Amino acid sequence: MKLKKSLGQNFLTDSFFLEKIIQSSQIQKFDEVIEIGPGDGALTELIIKNSKSLIAIEIDQRFSKKLEKKYANADFKIHNTDFLKMNLSEINLENKIILGNLPYNISSQIIFRVLESGFKFKHCIFLIQKELANKFLTNQKASKISIQCQLFCDIEPLFDIPPDSFEPKPKVNSTLIKITPHDNYKKFHKKYEVFQEVLSICFASPRKKILSALKKADLAGEKFGFDVNKRAEELEITNFFEILNLYESKL
Ligand code: SAM
Repeated sequence: MKLKKSLGQNFLTDSFFLEKIIQSSQIQKFDEVIEIGPGDGALTELIIKNSKSLIAIEIDQRFSKKLEKKYANADFKIHNTDFLKMNLSEINLENKIILGNLPYNISSQIIFRVLESGFKFKHCIFLIQKELANKFLTNQKASKISIQCQLFCDIEPLFDIPPDSFEPKPKVNSTLIKITPHDNYKKFHKKYEVFQEVLSICFASPRKKILSALKKADLAGEKFGFDVNKRAEELEITNFFEILNLYESKL
């Protein structure tokens, strides 16, 4: 079957890494799992063996039909649709483990769709481009997406997978990440839209002093509990909450 580059169809074929992903996902016999983009079903097979049930979402009908037939007798349901457009209440992410070797071009959108859904899922195990994983990770320099993500969850890298393990081979390395939701900053969730606005202002020039962004937001004269000569990429999420509170008070 001809694979579609536009749908990010780089299939993981290395059985060592397929097994390692399943082990890292901590799926148990009582778990309900959701798989985003099962493709030809290499991970699907292993998830079905190890879980209570599986719901998959696959945009390419050639694969969704094939898997529907193959697992007709299992506790398996597949939606032939676009994960970014579907109504997530249909699959109810609550308490589920969500797994996927994500299409590279829309990995960020998929991750934020899950985080912004408001569902308290158990955790996500996603394979994404290493470079993107580094932008999400909170132990690196802060970025707009790492701070945005921290509002909802902890994110940790598990291990890397080299291009040779895929068919066709991508040009880049991949990293498996684990996303675990938390309620640490729940009171800020309702302010999410303004928070994004604040982050866009702060990270417009991440290498400049945060003071220059504060000037743009008309907040340069305010007192902050952090050094305004630092760069946005050196700040922590609580510093951005401080900016958010003052920014809001001026709206
Ligand atoms: N799970 C398989 C594996 O690990 O080998 C395939 C992973 S491949 C990187 C990504 C899969 O996501 C493809 O099967 C592709 O058709 C599917 N896909 C791409 N865009 C999608 C979307 N918007 N919604 C659902 N599935 C999508």
